[in-house]
Amino acid sequence: MTATPAYAAPSARAPLAPLTIERRAPRERDVLIDILYCGVCHSDIHQARDEWGGSIFPMVPGHEIVGRVAAAGASVSKFAVGDVVGVGCFVDSCRECPQCRAGEEQYCDQGMTGTYNGRERDTGAPTYGGYSTRIVVDEDYVLRIPDGIPLERAAPLLCAGITTYSPLRHFGVKPGDTVAVVGLGGLGHMAVKLARAMGAEVTVLSTSPAKREDALALGANDFLSTREEGAFRANAGRFDFIVDTVSAQHDYNAYLGLLKVDGTMVLLGVPDAPTPLGAFPLIGRRRRLAGSMIGGIRETQEMLDFCAEHGVASDVEVIGIAEINQAYERMLAGDVRYRFVIDIASLRDG
Ligand SMILES: [Zn+2]
Ligand SMILES: [Zn+2]
Repeated sequence: MTATPAYAAPSARAPLAPLTIERRAPRERDVLIDILYCGVCHSDIHQARDEWGGSIFPMVPGHEIVGRVAAAGASVSKFAVGDVVGVGCFVDSCRECPQCRAGEEQYCDQGMTGTYNGRERDTGAPTYGGYSTRIVVDEDYVLRIPDGIPLERAAPLLCAGITTYSPLRHFGVKPGDTVAVVGLGGLGHMAVKLARAMGAEVTVLSTSPAKREDALALGANDFLSTREEGAFRANAGRFDFIVDTVSAQHDYNAYLGLLKVDGTMVLLGVPDAPTPLGAFPLIGRRRRLAGSMIGGIRETQEMLDFCAEHGVASDVEVIGIAEINQAYERMLAGDVRYRFVIDIASLRDG
């Protein structure tokens, strides 16, 4: 066991504060990673405040981790000391169910083991995330960060990047397709960049007209203010694919009307109440409404390599760990372009 400086939520109602946690000694197939950067995801806030229920406290959030391998167990074959690596939303799964065998561990029948707010499969010990100076992970759940992506800008790819990449690939978005991205936050800005890099024609849909300039600067071809009178009617049947990143409640039926025949809308956000859905918007144009959750290890590696090849990275604001509580408040106010990333050196020195 290694005493490790971290920042933790002591309970659902308390701000995050320093805490020393214990990391297990690396086992045969484990790598010990010195964490350099950790992105701050909206789900960190949801779980630290127990908004989804079942949270384990104290909680060390963080599942957009980039670091350097500091030690490797005797049987580790994929990584060596000094390698720059990443850890995303999960650190283990059953490895035997159909999804695990297919490399889609996020849909494991026994449930993936979350990087934090989860329990180790063998010991039942709580897992602690990336708001800490080091982490120990089985090599099968570790990603290689390719050269060419600035490390602080690579961290959010481990959740926001794969969450948007996976559905774009799964549903076969191809050059020339018309893609709408609903919401321009941490997920939305990655969806714009990735869909453009895949050759799609991208339109950002947002309730705030002030985001037009940002959307175009990120590479979007067009912007649509959904508050504008008649916007939905004027754009009916326009898109092949809609990536819906919004987690505030909104009317799916209206957005479905923007799809072409055989178009697909995929939900990535989780509103806190169910949304009524009519059959007509689906039936009349053979449309599909789908959901998607992060991506498997193999696909996450593919995404990282794709990003390096196409010069795609997250737009980030780097903060020190002491600013984390303020960062949460700013995220809730939509005041970040587009991801906070913690420089973990601030936790090492502090
Ligand atoms: Zn996340
Ligand atoms: Zn499984």
